[in-house]
Amino acid sequence: MKDQVIVVGAGIAGLAAAIRLAAAGKQVRVFERAAGPGGKLSDFKLGDYRFDLGPSLFTMPQYVDELFRLAGEDPRDHFNYQRLETVCHYWWPDGTQLAAAADVSQLAENCATAFEVPAERIKAFMQRAEQKYELAGRTFLEKSLHQVDTWLQPSVAKAMFRIPGLDLFRSMHRVHERELGHPKLVQLFDRFATYNGSNPYKAPGLLSMIPHFEHHFGAYLPKGGMVEISQSLYQLGQRLGVSYHFNTEVAEIERTAQRVTGVRLNDGSRHRAEEVICNMDVFLAYDRLLPGAKQPKRTLRQQKSTSAIVFYWGVQRSFSKLGLHNIIFSDDYQTEFAEMEAGRMSNDPTVYINVTSKLEAADAPAGCENWFVMVNAPADTGQDWENLKRLTRQRVLDKLAPLGLAPTEKEIVEERILGPTEIERLTGSHQGALYGTSSNGKFAAFLRHPNFSRRIKGLYFLGGSVHPGGGIPLCLLSAKITGEIMMGSGNVRVPE
Ligand code: FAD
Repeated sequence: MKDQVIVVGAGIAGLAAAIRLAAAGKQVRVFERAAGPGGKLSDFKLGDYRFDLGPSLFTMPQYVDELFRLAGEDPRDHFNYQRLETVCHYWWPDGTQLAAAADVSQLAENCATAFEVPAERIKAFMQRAEQKYELAGRTFLEKSLHQVDTWLQPSVAKAMFRIPGLDLFRSMHRVHERELGHPKLVQLFDRFATYNGSNPYKAPGLLSMIPHFEHHFGAYLPKGGMVEISQSLYQLGQRLGVSYHFNTEVAEIERTAQRVTGVRLNDGSRHRAEEVICNMDVFLAYDRLLPGAKQPKRTLRQQKSTSAIVFYWGVQRSFSKLGLHNIIFSDDYQTEFAEMEAGRMSNDPTVYINVTSKLEAADAPAGCENWFVMVNAPADTGQDWENLKRLTRQRVLDKLAPLGLAPTEKEIVEERILGPTEIERLTGSHQGALYGTSSNGKFAAFLRHPNFSRRIKGLYFLGGSVHPGGGIPLCLLSAKITGEIMMGSGNVRVPE
């Protein structure tokens, strides 16, 4: 009889782990509370407009391709994507614009023209981003930080030796000021802190490696939209024999004193397994699924990543100035983040607009566009979100108007609005955090929950709320690390 594994949650990490384990010969059942797979990476329709619910930026597609190859399939038979030549269109309140090319040399030229700075400065910055990634990023993102094996690797010793050059003790913003100089250029690169829901004025300078992901490995849009990532992985799991149970909520992870025995569902039924993988937000998992278990309090107390207010608009007009990804910056970035740190929404928010119908015509009727408009928000601590959503909607329209980018009320023919409380309710992330915990401290990476339980044998954790963090690529890596631990490649744990 095959080893039985249960996965709680069919988010991107749960889907990826199910594939890895089924490909290795385990019998895998996935229990998912929602009606379908994907979690934050799902989609919906409003009239004739299609919207991806959450993620809009896709980097590191190789981690998805790898899952098809593991199963002996050619990814191109099932999942396709196009590389973006222009990764983002930026606007500043004074009318400055920049279309940022993916290619580093071209990006450097774009910046040199827009800000009258030497192109070499941007190239040198991007080179340092690459060095940081090669030196520390690879090791710390692709391996468990909670196992002896990781710390015995020569690459880790090398990274530790080079710590002063990794800018761990300087904020990302300070590094950008030092290396880029021009305030708008600094703001542009500070923005990358939001890729994991962090604050550039607090997050360590090591995170200035993030642009390397977008400008070296590339930014992509899957054919059929972001949802195709989770849909194609769900179908791959089905071909490998994974059994999925939707509309099925796990109420408890059952265990003896030392090891898991299975799960109990909301309907009271019990299902036995030697191993349980939890893709639910780790904070809520301890709170709801593991009654009586000793909680790693320090880990669970870490500051949450930012949340968001998202407006999904069916717009009955086409805006030729917009591309797939667009950012309209606030006037004062530091104040915007300070407001969020204080749990408030900024009066002058940076606005992100994603329009997949620019590349996927079927996502909106002819001559119309599907706008995903996102504004960063603090995690939910009981703010009056209905009022904040109303105020923010008007601020967004006011901000877009002088740039000629605002649709009229009549042109917004479909609308749905999500705030932090809906994000928590729909996707089960504590306080509506988009990326689990923030990276706002020097040691944030080391304080994320490990991919396994230190106390309960056979219990594993993956997804955006645990190591190595949130966002699609890191969630896929969490599944890889968990799979490797479960399969026994690197299972020597750091003693408590
Ligand atoms: P989740 O997607 O969090 O799914 C967890 C699943 O577990 C859910 O389906 C839930 O229903 C299920 N579940 C929870 N509890 C139970 C239970 N008790 N029983 C059964 N099932 C349960 N990332 C990017 O890379 N690029 C982006 O552009 C980007 N933008 C984002 C924008 C928004 C608005 C949001 C919300 C997120 C964004 N992210 C982005 C982050 C990214 O979506 C997440 O990091 C990632 O999708 C999280 O995946 P996960 O595997 O942790 O699972």
